[in-house]
Order: sequence, then C-alpha cells, then structure tokens
Amino acid sequence: MAGIAAPRGTHDILPAEAPAWRWLLDTHSRVVESYGYRPIATPVFEATELFARGVGAETDVVEKQMFTFEDRGGRSLALRPEGTAGVVRAVVGAHLEQERRPVRVHYQGPMFRAERPQAGRQHQFTHLGVECIGERSPHLDAEIVEMAWRFFQALGLEGVQLQVNTLGDAEDRRRYREALVAYYAPFRERLCDDCRRRLEVNPLRLLDCKKDADLVPGAPLIWELLDAGSKAHFTAVLASLEAAEVPAAVNHRIVRGLDYYADTVFELWHESLHGAQNALGGGGRYDGLAELLGFATTPGVGYALGAERILIAAEQQQLTPQDAGDCDIVVCSVEGPQAERAAEIARLLRGDARVVLDVSDRRLDRKLRQSDKLGARLAVIVGEEEERAEEATVRDLAAHTQQRVPTSQLADAVRHALDAQR
Ligand code: AMP
Repeated sequence: MAGIAAPRGTHDILPAEAPAWRWLLDTHSRVVESYGYRPIATPVFEATELFARGVGAETDVVEKQMFTFEDRGGRSLALRPEGTAGVVRAVVGAHLEQERRPVRVHYQGPMFRAERPQAGRQHQFTHLGVECIGERSPHLDAEIVEMAWRFFQALGLEGVQLQVNTLGDAEDRRRYREALVAYYAPFRERLCDDCRRRLEVNPLRLLDCKKDADLVPGAPLIWELLDAGSKAHFTAVLASLEAAEVPAAVNHRIVRGLDYYADTVFELWHESLHGAQNALGGGGRYDGLAELLGFATTPGVGYALGAERILIAAEQQQLTPQDAGDCDIVVCSVEGPQAERAAEIARLLRGDARVVLDVSDRRLDRKLRQSDKLGARLAVIVGEEEERAEEATVRDLAAHTQQRVPTSQLADAVRHALDAQR
C-alpha cells in the first residue's frame, strides 16, 4: 500500500526550512511592531457569508476558489481565503476601535484558495498582514505602504517594485463602472464567458482578465473620473510617500482582485517571479467593508503579503539564513550505566546551549558521526572512567581535539569552547 501523500497544493515546512520561515516572520513582526502594530489571530474558518459579503460574492476568490463545507448543524463555513474580513469582524465586533483609534494590528497565518497549483501558487499559503482600523487619513494609507516597503528593505530584498493607484469613493466607482460598460459593450460578442458575466455583475473585474487583456490598454482610466476630494486624498498619499522616500510608481491600471477596496490601492511586484505569480502582495483602503459585514461604518486600510513568494525571491538572492543545525552540543554516554549521569550533564548545559542527549547503545564513533550530522560543535562524552573521576571529555568536533574537564567546571569550559568557535 502506498504511503498517504499530502493534499494537492499544500507544502510541508520541514525543519531545514524553519530558519528561513522564522527569519521572515520575525522580521515582519519586528518592522510592524516598531510602528505600534500588535498581533491578532482569528480562526482559519469563518461563516461563508463573511467572505460572500466582505470579499464579494462575484469575485473569483469567493465564486471559484473557496473551500466551503457544512458543519454538523448544516451551517455553511469556509476556510478563509484572506485575512482582512476576519480581522475587521474581530476588531469591530470587540469594539476595540472605541478604546483607541485607529486600531493597529498585524497577523500571519494560513489562507486557502482552490487555484490551480503551480510555483508560487498553492491551495494553502501564508499571508503576512497588517490592518489599521477606525480612522480615515491619507497619512495612514501612506503608513501602510511605507511599512510594506520597510519590511522588504529589512529583508534586504532587491528588485521589489511598488505600484500605487486610487479607486476613489463609491460614487467615483459607480461612474467608472458605467464608463467600463460603455467601453466593453461593443466587444460583448468576442469577450470570454467570464467577462460577459463580469460586464453585468462586476465590470471592474474586466480589467483583470488574462484572455481579454488586449482590450485593457484602450479602457478608460478611473483617474479621469475621480472627483476633487478623491484626487486630493491620493495626492496627499503620494506626498507622504515621497517625504518618507518610498519609491512608489503610480499605475492607474491597478484595481485589485477583491471588492472591498476604495481610494488607495497598491501592489508589490518582483521581477524574479514571472507572469501571473509576480505579485508579492498588495493592499489598500476598505472604508466600506465593516458596513458590508453588518457593523457601523468603520474605515480601514491594510495589506497582505504572500510569504511563500517572498521566500522564493529571497532564496534566489541568498538572503535566507543558513540552517543552524539541530543543536550545539551532543552529550553521549559510552556504556549503558552512564545514561543517568549523561542526562544530568545535558540538563546542566541546556541553560546556555541547545543540547541533544544520546544514550543509545550505538558505538561511540557512530555517535560522534551522528553529532556532526546534527550540526553540533561539541560532544561531551561520559564513559565509565569519566564518571568515576567526576569528569567529562569535551571534544571539539571541528578541530578533532579533546580534553578532560571536572564536571564542576564543565558549564564554564563548554561556554568558553563555544565562544572560541564563534
Ligand atoms: P491577494 O489578497 O490575492 O492580493 O494576495 C496577496 C498575496 O498573497 C499575493 O500577492 C500573493 O503573494 C499571495 N497569494 C495569493 N494567492 C496565493 C496562492 N494561491 N498561493 C500562494 N500565494 C498566494
């Protein structure tokens, strides 16, 4: 019988990959916490309605890509395809924005979308996200964009391109939808099935279509239809970004795949990821979202970045940290009777270092070879003679030198030896 395989579109993070992941997640937390963002965690599944209303029932994400199931009571639930709707539900549901405005939160965790798996596109993937909820200001839009930029700077990742646009307010978008319908309607017969439907229900999505991409360059731009207030908001965002020395290129074709965006939207692209998978992340302002979820109107702005794609780019530039191995020290017994003594010594040394205990009945030379594989720099050997003399042998695994040390001085000697190697 064949062993059971992982589900399609999923990826195990095995121990050797863990240092790169930790580096990525810790760097993100460090950068955004320096702006006063605090961690939040919400469930990986939610009522399906949260996404139908929040993300938009006619978006590809909700219509085609959600993993939806029923609980035992017949309620429809979905694995979250994105984090913003859940975070807004949690923050506004707990009235956090009444204690402080705005509420600044960040999260990291798995998201689920049933897209055709390929490099940089999985069924389960990881978002690093921030949300700033409860206040409307161009300075906050700029803060979010700046944080994303500083994060990539902190990673040292080269080649990231930042593209910003504005979608204006609801009235601007209504006018824009009309303009798009007027532009696309004469092409109705040649449009793909999806786009013919989008023409009726969600004209902004027409601009995302790969099949009808040749029509996009001639389509009207929302910028041409914005009212003065929307233009002033965007101009202020750009001024803040310039003052922060964040190199944002204005791209009026960015519309973002989810329905809840308004005003500022942005995407981060990377040159090394090709085609449709070149987006590292994106975000924007979503002032209408809380209301769609049944709460009082609450403005917000945020971003979500794709951790797997960032790691692909970071690995290409050799930015990810080296695997630091399993441990610093292996404490080995030589014969069975020294097992307890060896365990005691391992416990003593764990205060300062990562220590693996090997009291197996393998021969000592095998244990030393295994210590090399674990990445250990020292082996501490406890044989019959050492036990009798209340000593241990400390072996430098790189230099192949060793010395006997009284157990009372062992912690100091080991610390010294590890320091000397660093
Ligand atoms: P989105 O909410 O679609 O803009 O997603 C933000 C980021 O998450 C994207 O720019 C990607 O980097 C990443 N992402 C989205 N979908 C997937 C997926 N199926 N697999 C891997 N990463 C993804």
